[in-house]
This record gives sequence, C-alpha cells and structure tokens, in this order.
Amino acid sequence: MSATNYRGRFAPSPTGLLHAGSLATALASWLDARAAQGTWLIRLEDLDTPRIQTHAMTGILQQLAMMGMTSDEAVIYQSQRLPFYVEALHQLNQSKLLYTCSCSRKKIAQSRDNLPTNPSSELVYPGFCRPVNPTSCLLDQSTGAIRVRIPTNTYSLSQHLSSEVGDFVVLRQDGIFTYQLAVVVDDSHQGITHIVRGEDLSSNTPRQVWLQQQLGIPTPSYKHIPLVVNHFSEKLSKQTNAPPIWPKNTQEALVYLHLAGVHLKLGLEKPSLHMTLAQWQEQAVKAWSGLT
Ligand code: GLU
Repeated sequence: MSATNYRGRFAPSPTGLLHAGSLATALASWLDARAAQGTWLIRLEDLDTPRIQTHAMTGILQQLAMMGMTSDEAVIYQSQRLPFYVEALHQLNQSKLLYTCSCSRKKIAQSRDNLPTNPSSELVYPGFCRPVNPTSCLLDQSTGAIRVRIPTNTYSLSQHLSSEVGDFVVLRQDGIFTYQLAVVVDDSHQGITHIVRGEDLSSNTPRQVWLQQQLGIPTPSYKHIPLVVNHFSEKLSKQTNAPPIWPKNTQEALVYLHLAGVHLKLGLEKPSLHMTLAQWQEQAVKAWSGLT
C-alpha cells in the first residue's frame, strides 16, 4: 500500500534488453515514485510484434529486479489488453475523428519536401485520404490503416498538431494498435498520475494529451529526462549497439546504478564495497527528492 495517490510507471517496449539509457529512465521513474511514497508499476509495451524479442520480455524484468526495481502491482502486458484499445477506437469513431488511409509510406514521403516535419522527423501526413466531411468510418483495417483526424489549428501544449504532426495512425494496416493510442488507454486504466520518461518521447506528449481530451480521460503530469548518449552524441539504442546491462552481482549492479545516478545528477559518492542495494536506494531517493 502506498502512502499517497501518486502512481508512476516504467513502460519499456521489449524490442531488446535494457541498456544504460533505458536503465536511467527506469531509475528516474522509480526514484520519482519512491520520493513521493507512491506506487511504481511496470508495463510491457509488447504490441509491435514484428519488433519484439521474446528474450527481452522476461529479460527486462530480470534486469530491473537485479537493480532492485520490481513492480508494486502485477506487470501489465499490452498484448493482453486489445479489447480496451478497440473500445477507445469506437469512442473516437463515434466522435467522427477516424478515417481509413491506404497511402503507402512512399507516397507520403514523396510529398514530404513541401511539408514541415516534427522533431522526431516523423512524416506529417498530408491528408490524402481524409474525407471532406467528418463521418464515422468502417473500423476495418484490411483496407488500410486507421488515422485520427486532427482538426485544423489544434494546439496541444505548445505544438501545432495539425501542421507539426498531422492526422496520425491509431490502428496500423497490419492490425497493430499504435503506441499513441495504447499508451493513453493504459495510463488511464492504470490510474497513472505521473509519467517520467526520456526526452525522446516529449514530442509525443501533445498528441497523447489531445487524445486524452478526446477520450475524456485525465492528463497525468509529464517529466522528460535527458537522454544518455554515446561518444557520437547518438541516443543509446539497439541501432547504436548499446550493450545490455546484466550485472553479475550486487557490486556490479551498484556500479550501473551509480552511473545512471551520475546521468540523473544525483551527486552521490561512488558506492563502497560493502554497500547494499537498499542503502544505495535510500540515498538516491533522498538525493532525487532534493532535486525535484
Ligand atoms: N514503450 C515506450 C518506449 O519504450 C515508452 C512508453 C512511455 O514511456 O510512454 O519507448
């Protein structure tokens, strides 16, 4: 039982094991929850089946446990929650916000030169399939992906959604619900009040806030932490060959945690040889409380 109604989460996609970057994000969300005496949850975002690595499903949980981070409630798997995404889709459809789109990436890319791109350089959809008059659509993705219509001049936070993001996909043509829809549905179902995640996701936040408004669900507080980068200033990822973190013993786990703590500017001394995980965590939570 937590002492407050703070509910935070770490929501990794199991496309690979955790590396130093994802460890820092996990640690930041864990510290934030512990500093608030709240609840911390793990949710595995395993919808994008072609990209999932089965060993990462259990591996990530083992890595986190080795680093002293376990979910306060049962771990949630998005692959088991499809009916909830269908329900949200129906709700958006009732508001006449959806339409089917059969455009290929190539077609969208070809029109790109004339269009602005958002910071994550995703393609802004130029609206080729957008019907002139909003109506509900047949929710049958066999004829294309399902996009959500962003009314012109929609701002969310400081982003001009219609020109910077455009109508975005909520259900892919291959039948996979997109991250944007699933994350909003699950954060709401799990009663998440505080989201701490990497800066790379900050350009998604306005879309998610807008979706929450369309679905009539509350917006949590968002905090984005700086990304861990390699010597070439590239974000650590599988593509940049970031090695997985797999401590052999507590001492090694403490070294990894210490490095993540340096990134988070916790300002802690190097852990001594006899320090326990619990002692490190206690110091780190105090340091985090001082920072936030
Ligand atoms: N599953 C997403 C990722 O691993 C993160 C989701 C989130 O924190 O909103 O990039």
